[in-house]
Amino acid sequence: MARNLIGIDLGGTTTKMAFLSLAGDILTKWSIPTDITDEGSHIVPNIIDSISQHITNSEFSKDDFLGIGMGTPGSVDIENGTVIGAFNLNWKKRQQVRDQIQAGLGLQFILDNDANVASLGEYWKGAGEKDSDVVFVTLGTGVGGGVIAGGHLLHGINGGAGELGHVTVQPNGYLCTCGKRGCLEQYASATGVVHVANDMAKDFMGTSRLKEMEDNQESVTSKMVFYLADNGDILANQVVDRVTFYLGLALANVANILNPANIIIGGGVSNAGNTLLQPTTRYFQENAFPAVRDSTKLRLAQLGNDAGVIGAASLALRFQKSN
Ligand SMILES: [Zn+2]
Repeated sequence: MARNLIGIDLGGTTTKMAFLSLAGDILTKWSIPTDITDEGSHIVPNIIDSISQHITNSEFSKDDFLGIGMGTPGSVDIENGTVIGAFNLNWKKRQQVRDQIQAGLGLQFILDNDANVASLGEYWKGAGEKDSDVVFVTLGTGVGGGVIAGGHLLHGINGGAGELGHVTVQPNGYLCTCGKRGCLEQYASATGVVHVANDMAKDFMGTSRLKEMEDNQESVTSKMVFYLADNGDILANQVVDRVTFYLGLALANVANILNPANIIIGGGVSNAGNTLLQPTTRYFQENAFPAVRDSTKLRLAQLGNDAGVIGAASLALRFQKSN
């Protein structure tokens, strides 16, 4: 009886992998650099080699594993196990990921997009606390998201469900990579925070370290903006206020539709902790209607970088249960 799972979290710079128990506990984890040369053609063979080696060097044999799950950037066709348009992997053409991995390792394989998979991770072992209604938003280089409603991960008819990054928070606002304007991603991602800071600095007249940095064209990061805000910088606090207004508004509107038990905020920007969470919660409460305001809670993610491999493993488990 197989008693373990394999999770893969494929990213543009590193590929994280882990062996996990059926309960979702990580037994061993490792990572390899993602080789995106030659149109990303080495990525899948490298994953197969790495997992084979780790099985050989472990106490396990292939039969000890129930299956493999993977989270990937790009546009995922779950039914056919393919990925297309993952530009940070150099995958412009459709990739037959499932067929290659199943042939290479002889184990069942299932994949989904990275934000959905991280949502499953937090839902299973992190801040989701196993409530059957959970929304996850990840604030990193971009903004991703996932929605679990009634215990089911939502995909929509074209894979677009849960894309919280493209909720419009500012009509006719900043132009987004998706082609429309005013998306949450342009304000609440790491790059979005810096964009807001650049613009607000232009009109700011008071004394501020952030203003000085902007005027001297020093490089500003979102981490720095939150750090300065924490330390009383007036402009940095105005930037955080603007960013958390947009985030709180977007999350309230999502919650007004779904009324989840928890909305979990993850990704690098969420390392700002309460400096981010407190004002976001205030704007969330202002914009949520009473039934939602009194029941839906905003929380910080708990799993950090492990959310991907844990969620990927849960995908393999869910797949087994449904077949
Ligand atoms: Zn967009």
